[in-house]
Amino acid sequence: MILQQTRVEQGRSYWERFLQELPTVEDLAAASDTQIKGLWSGLGYYRRADLLHRGAKQIARTGWPQGTKEWLEVPGIGPYTAAALASIVDGEVVPALDGNAFRVYSRLADWSEPIETSRSKAFIYSLALNFVHPKRPGDFNQAVMDLAQALCTPKKPKCNECPVQELCAARSAGSAELRPVKTRTLKVTEQDLHFAVPRRGHQFGLVQRPLGGIWSGLYTLPELATVPPGFTPQVLDHRLSHRKLRVHFYPEFEGSSEPEIWLTREEWSKRGMPQAFVHWLTEFPYI
Ligand code: SF4
Repeated sequence: MILQQTRVEQGRSYWERFLQELPTVEDLAAASDTQIKGLWSGLGYYRRADLLHRGAKQIARTGWPQGTKEWLEVPGIGPYTAAALASIVDGEVVPALDGNAFRVYSRLADWSEPIETSRSKAFIYSLALNFVHPKRPGDFNQAVMDLAQALCTPKKPKCNECPVQELCAARSAGSAELRPVKTRTLKVTEQDLHFAVPRRGHQFGLVQRPLGGIWSGLYTLPELATVPPGFTPQVLDHRLSHRKLRVHFYPEFEGSSEPEIWLTREEWSKRGMPQAFVHWLTEFPYI
C-alpha cells in the first residue's frame, strides 16, 4: 500500500519502520490512529494510512484473505494489488496489471487502440492471462514489473537488452514508443489556499481537517475563507496528483477563531503533517 503512490527508494524506510514498530497485522490493527499517522508522516496521500489501518483491523478480525476475490474485500486493496498479492502470496494464476504492466503487454501485442477503453483492458487481460506462468505466477508478475521498470520504460525502451524482444510485435514494427496509445489526459485543477499562523512560543495552533477533502482528517493551520487585508503571505506551489495548489501562509496573522490543538513542529509531524506544510517549514525554517 505504501508503493501505491510512492517510489520504492522513498517508501523503503517507511516500510522498515512500520515492520519494526508494528511487526504483525494484530499490532497494526491495535495501533492508535496517531501512531499510524506518525509512522506515515512525510509519505503524503494519508488516505492510504487510514485504509491500511482499516484493512489490518479487518484481517485481524477475519483472518488472512485467500485469492483475488477475498483480497479485494480488504479496504485499500484494488484489482492490481489484489492480483499481485494473490499471485505472489497464494500462487493464484492471475496477471497483476498496473500502468507499467499495461505498457509492456500493449507493446508485446503492438496494440494500437486507446488503452483506457474496456475493449483494450479486456484484450490485455486475456493476453496477459495466457502469458502468466502456471506454476510461478508471482515470480512472473514480478518479472513483468522489473521488465517495465528496467527496460520497457515509457521513453526510449532498451529493446536490444530485452529478454522478450523476439516476441515483441511493437519492437518488430518500430512502434514501441508509440504504445500504449493514450487518449485521456489528466485534468489538473488549480487552487489557492490561505492559512493563518497562530503561534504560542514553539507551538502552532491547529485544526483537524474535515474527512473526505484535501488532507482528510489531518491537522493543519486554520484555513482562511478570505484573504486577510494588509498581510504579506509566504507563498509556495505544491502539487497533488490532480491539483496544483498555490498555498499562502500569513505568519503575521493569527486568525480569528481559537485553534483546536497546540502542537510543536515535532508533535505535529508525529501526527502526520501534510507535505505542503513540511515543504513550507523547509522553505522557511525560521518559522
Ligand atoms: S522489446 Fe522493447 S518494447 Fe518490447 S517488451 Fe522489450 S523493452 Fe518493451
